[in-house]
Amino acid sequence: MKKAITHLKLDQANPSKLQKLDELAVEHRRVVQAYVDWLIAHEGRQPDKYALIPEQDIPTPLSDRWQRCAWQQACGIVQSWYSNERENPPVLRNACIQANTNVVVIEPSNTPQFDFWLRISTLDVRHPVRIPIKLYKRARETLTQFPKLCTGVTLNQRDGEWYATFVVERRGPKPQSSQVVGVDIGMVSIVSTSVGQRYGQVSAKLRRRVERANEKRRRKQKLNACLKRKNQPTVSLNDDKAEAFARNEIGRAINQMLDELPEGSKVALERLTVKDMRFKSRQMNRALRAAQLGYVRDKLKFKLDERGIRYRSVQAAYSTQQCSHCGFTFPMNRRSQAEFHCLWCGFEANADENAAQIIAERFGDKELNARFFRDVEAALAIRFMRRLPDARSASAGLELQPVIWLPRGKVAVAVEPPPTVNQPGLTPML
Ligand SMILES: [Zn+2]
Repeated sequence: MKKAITHLKLDQANPSKLQKLDELAVEHRRVVQAYVDWLIAHEGRQPDKYALIPEQDIPTPLSDRWQRCAWQQACGIVQSWYSNERENPPVLRNACIQANTNVVVIEPSNTPQFDFWLRISTLDVRHPVRIPIKLYKRARETLTQFPKLCTGVTLNQRDGEWYATFVVERRGPKPQSSQVVGVDIGMVSIVSTSVGQRYGQVSAKLRRRVERANEKRRRKQKLNACLKRKNQPTVSLNDDKAEAFARNEIGRAINQMLDELPEGSKVALERLTVKDMRFKSRQMNRALRAAQLGYVRDKLKFKLDERGIRYRSVQAAYSTQQCSHCGFTFPMNRRSQAEFHCLWCGFEANADENAAQIIAERFGDKELNARFFRDVEAALAIRFMRRLPDARSASAGLELQPVIWLPRGKVAVAVEPPPTVNQPGLTPML
């Protein structure tokens, strides 16, 4: 159960800090408005808060994290605008910033004068401001009843005064102790969960940095080939700075995920082998190298241990191709890195979320978890067919549409039906 603590005045800060907040708010509002206009111009009825931001169209000095934050706020505004069937496009009048933990952090205070500090990122990169907060009496009472402070702060300006809103939580009557949350590691986001959250967007900045690092690496490899021929000592291929940057992003994404994990849930992780990681990192356009995916997995396990959360690694084979709705497993169910579209039942979802769902379902799946990677496909095919109503008929009820559109929307090909009961291990030919 959650409750909001509103009207926390930010008047204890010195004026220069508040001026920085004012400057930030002006730019933030401009950008949110621009995103809203952009979404409405592009008829984004169901805006995706994780989608790529139209950075080219809307240049801004806001950091990547602030941009993401503004984008999510704009998505919310546009969605409610459409669902309320309003006619006049929304115009933002008041300064209101819905900040997540990537841009505003609540820190407990060690001094008796204040209860908390808000660390707010500003337009000055790497120069956040710290603003003290003193709880009023009612707020203090609420906090004793709802002792868990959620991440995410809303900042409002009214009549020239700044106010913050906190969200607090207390354990409901029934902790969902049996819930298993599946976690998928890194394709489009660093981690995605089966409860529909994604953390650590591989931001444009990270992608640029990693690309540059890869470029450097290739040059160094060439140089090393030369040096070897001349029998001279070679140079190290590592780029420590880029690596540190990526790891920082990974740590942040994992912490955020664990903070928001439902109370008492267990976690299902992919059992990632080196081979899977190579495959994944290739699909990720080398945005995160295989080594980094391994790092994500290890870091995640470390933090789960640290917080005493139960977890289990499950067989992850074909988790990207299996439909979480009907179980149909087919390579072309996954059209791109981001989209999942089941060719059997038509189920559509974000590909990472679908995979995370599959991983959650495999938490207690002893049969599948005991199998080798190569045997999983056959097992999944048999299970899928057993579920069909007329499984005993000759074709096992599998009349797949004969023509399927390939991604990139240009070629149509005939596809043979998936394997029948009698030939379980057969891969459909494309
Ligand atoms: Zn399906």
